[in-house]
Amino acid sequence: MSNSKLFKFLSEDGFIRASCVVYTDVLNELRELQETSPVSTMALGRTLVGAILLSSRLKDEQAVAIQIQCEGSMAMVFAQSSYECGVRAFVGEPHLPMSVDRGNLFLAPHVGEGTLTVSTYIKGSAQPQISRVALQTGEITEDLAHYLRTSLQVPCLITSGILLGTEGVVTSAGGLMVEMLPGHTEDHIALVERCLKAMGSISDVLANQPTGEDILRMFFLGVKGQIWEHPHALQISCSCNRDKVTSSIELLGEVDVKDMIAKNEMVQVKCEMCGRRYVVVMDDLKAIYQRLRKLH
Ligand SMILES: [Zn+2]
Repeated sequence: MSNSKLFKFLSEDGFIRASCVVYTDVLNELRELQETSPVSTMALGRTLVGAILLSSRLKDEQAVAIQIQCEGSMAMVFAQSSYECGVRAFVGEPHLPMSVDRGNLFLAPHVGEGTLTVSTYIKGSAQPQISRVALQTGEITEDLAHYLRTSLQVPCLITSGILLGTEGVVTSAGGLMVEMLPGHTEDHIALVERCLKAMGSISDVLANQPTGEDILRMFFLGVKGQIWEHPHALQISCSCNRDKVTSSIELLGEVDVKDMIAKNEMVQVKCEMCGRRYVVVMDDLKAIYQRLRKLH
């Protein structure tokens, strides 16, 4: 049973909205699927938490994707989340080496110059809504905050943390986004700033293994409002399946497939979007070959 859940908060006066997610299990699952190093896990997690928090603003059957393209060795990182909390994420370089400064992992040395693109998919419209900003720091969370300030033009706070244990296992991962809604005053901004100061670092909070609800209660201590659980649980969801893998091998053509059979190789195909691996055994390859031959 996944502990990855999204919770929301709305202040009683309706001017402050927040979303909070703890997604430890989902990030660990992605880490295992893609065999990511600790730094690559951070890149995946920071991007994914942004997508999940942004998806909390959506409606049914909508989805949001964040893609970072960069000049550094990471090359790219992609994460998508739907309103239904189906998520997928992929990092260009799963084995980024350690880059530590004063005990903290840093992403920026592997990112460099680049862009952050947010695409929002709305059912019924052929093209997604796309907005793009230049990366500011390469640490992803700050870049997302910059995107929110410039593109959405709302005063907004985003903070996230990922705690790693031995062998890079994710022991706790979570994120919080707080938005001011139209009509808010300077007092609302000051209130949120006080809440943030009182809570302190989200990484310290995550060390106590809270739920998203716990974090919202702690953050909005003394602020009147309502907390509720998002109706969908987070799960990894990708449109890849065995049939698509089979089709991709068919596209290689008769000669290549015959060659694969001759080499008696077990074929492994990795989905570029979620990291899932599909093993295509010899019997499957032979069946593909027979189908290709019949096409002539
Ligand atoms: Zn996939």
